[in-house]
Amino acid sequence: MPLLPRRFERLKAVLDQRMADLTVVLEHVHKPHNLSAILRSCDAAGVLEAHVINLKGRTPTFNDTALGSQKWVELRSHGDTAAALRQLRDQGFRLVGTHLGVEAIDYRDGDYTGPTAFLLGAEKWGLSDTAAGLVDQAVFIPMRGMVQSLNVSVAAATLLFEALRQRRATGVLPSHGEGLPAALYAQRLFEWAYPEVAAWCRQEGRPYPELDAEGAIREQLPRTLRVRC
Ligand code: SAM
Repeated sequence: MPLLPRRFERLKAVLDQRMADLTVVLEHVHKPHNLSAILRSCDAAGVLEAHVINLKGRTPTFNDTALGSQKWVELRSHGDTAAALRQLRDQGFRLVGTHLGVEAIDYRDGDYTGPTAFLLGAEKWGLSDTAAGLVDQAVFIPMRGMVQSLNVSVAAATLLFEALRQRRATGVLPSHGEGLPAALYAQRLFEWAYPEVAAWCRQEGRPYPELDAEGAIREQLPRTLRVRC
């Protein structure tokens, strides 16, 4: 089925607002409805990629709550907290952890206009001591009720939309693709437009074909390859 021009424009309009420098790191968050709700919020907020540190032997699973958002927000899996956080810090992310240490500040007093990774902890246990020890800033969302914590997906959405609010207020919220390097933008656009062809290219170890202005693939592909958008 050819890619409809309207669909191509829609994909670009969403990608134009994606941010490579805002993310969440989910440490041992494993319940499918929470992972699903968080990815859906990431999609809504314009997060390009999210990260999960898996419990040993577990792979992330989703349910209907995601409404397919796992197709639009890549979830990168890690096996080890310290290594994952080091990698993100090396990429320039400031690590903002959600826990209630003495040094934690009200989340509204933090600055999320630069590269920011929000660390969220497991449903029952919260962030590990390892993660808490590696954060650049600890934050909390003030609670006024009888229950001491929010559901992790609610906390994630609250933080992401505060980052969005700040970025809009300071004029750094992308609207025309400024949130992604050009090569990454083109790569993601191809993957979104032609997931099967992208998978085939990766398997064959060949670069993605170029697209024309209407989103059509410029080169002749093997007939056996099903081009489904
Ligand atoms: N007993 C756990 C604890 O003490 O951290 C509760 C974990 S809570 C249900 C799961 C995750 O949601 C936390 O690790 C944190 O990432 C996030 N969270 C929940 N309430 C929060 C709040 N008020 N402020 C910041 N993050 C919160």
